[in-house]
Amino acid sequence: MAARAIIGGGSIGGLFAAAALRRAGWEVDVFERASAELSGRGAGIVTHPALVEALESVGAGTHDLGVAVEERVAFDRQGGRVRAMEFPQIVTSWDRVHRLLRPLVPEGRYHLGRVIAGYEETGGSVIVRFEDGSREEADLVVGADGFRSAVRGQFQPAVAPTYAGYVVWRALAAEAELSEEVRASVFPAFGFFAPAGTQIIGYPIAGPENDLRPGNRRYNFVWYSPADAGKLDAMLTDATGHRHRVTIPPPLIRNEVLAQMREEAEAWLPLPFVEILEVSERPFFTPIYDHCVEVMGAGRVALAGDAACVARPHMGMGVTKAACDALALARHLGDGGDVAAGLAGYSAERVPASRLAHERARELGSYIFGSPRETNPDGRANPRLEEIMRTTAVAI
Ligand SMILES: Cc1cc2nc3c(=O)[nH]c(=O)nc-3n(C[C@H](O)[C@H](O)[C@H](O)COP(=O)(O)OP(=O)(O)OC[C@H]3O[C@@H](n4cnc5c(N)ncnc54)[C@H](O)[C@@H]3O)c2cc1C
Repeated sequence: MAARAIIGGGSIGGLFAAAALRRAGWEVDVFERASAELSGRGAGIVTHPALVEALESVGAGTHDLGVAVEERVAFDRQGGRVRAMEFPQIVTSWDRVHRLLRPLVPEGRYHLGRVIAGYEETGGSVIVRFEDGSREEADLVVGADGFRSAVRGQFQPAVAPTYAGYVVWRALAAEAELSEEVRASVFPAFGFFAPAGTQIIGYPIAGPENDLRPGNRRYNFVWYSPADAGKLDAMLTDATGHRHRVTIPPPLIRNEVLAQMREEAEAWLPLPFVEILEVSERPFFTPIYDHCVEVMGAGRVALAGDAACVARPHMGMGVTKAACDALALARHLGDGGDVAAGLAGYSAERVPASRLAHERARELGSYIFGSPRETNPDGRANPRLEEIMRTTAVAI
């Protein structure tokens, strides 16, 4: 009889783990907290060769993966080109990657609205408990349940995400709604604006339903902006006065918070980016947190993707890292003969790789700070500009 794995979390990390384990001969069930399918999230994802290889090797393929950008360009506050370099890369979206992976888990094996509450290891198996009171027995549980993972909370209770001191604002603008000038200058490239004290990157991605036709695509806008504890408190407080603990659902972001963001954008950002923000669907922010475990698997419990370790978005490594975790997990576990030995090998391989990405992304994030915005307000004089352009969204 095939060994059975339970995967907590049906996002990209969970789907990759499910697909890789199924190919290794496991019987796999995915339990996702959300009660509706996760499709439709539009934010951009950069691709790396390892992600493309992983998609091919689990059988997802890379059909219509994304938009090809050819160069990286840094802009100044006036919207002029400060520096440009040839840098071909495919940029895709969370939704595209999710839709390629989702069909690899058969109906009846992907369970929506099921929240993992904890687990007990019995020696011969692991019993996973759900918030609805139900239980499932398996040979392995994989926590792919994101950076606030319940599985990690039990497996490594001492590890807690810490706030990094800044948030990332994200927005998507329809290509057709941008002025001709912005479509010609900013839209086609992987763009940067890097004055001291803040940073923007942006690139084109497919339109709704993965529409890659020119005119129908969208611009993915990413703005890193410092926010001290007091400011974050205010930003995470909704209109009813409730202070959300870690992140706030986008529709609950108060209009005052959006208005303040727009005011800061007008004061600091190049005009093309202000225009991109103006025509965007409702922008939303995510506070940046750090955490990284020292053990990714032991006994009958494994962690994968953001549940194990986050690499801040500067490296664009989150999805690729989750894919590499999944492939390594399946390779070390084989058909499930000796789960504990397999997980020891998995952890020994993936902890150093995860920590490397985690540390490098922290370093890239630190470049936002350093000197006050006033020292380099127009983005021309950043001494690290070349390095930022060469290393952002690049795998290590
Ligand atoms: C601004 C920003 C930009 C980014 N850009 C990139 C990029 O360019 N490239 C890139 O590779 N990555 C990027 N990332 C990171 C990327 O989104 C994640 O790293 C990646 O999706 C892997 O996530 P995951 O599947 O491990 O976790 P998640 O996507 O967080 O999924 C966890 C899943 O588990 C479910 N869940 C949670 N708790 C439970 C529970 N108790 N029981 C059952 N289910 C549960 C959740 O509902 C969710 O579906 C970016 C992130 C941010 C914030």
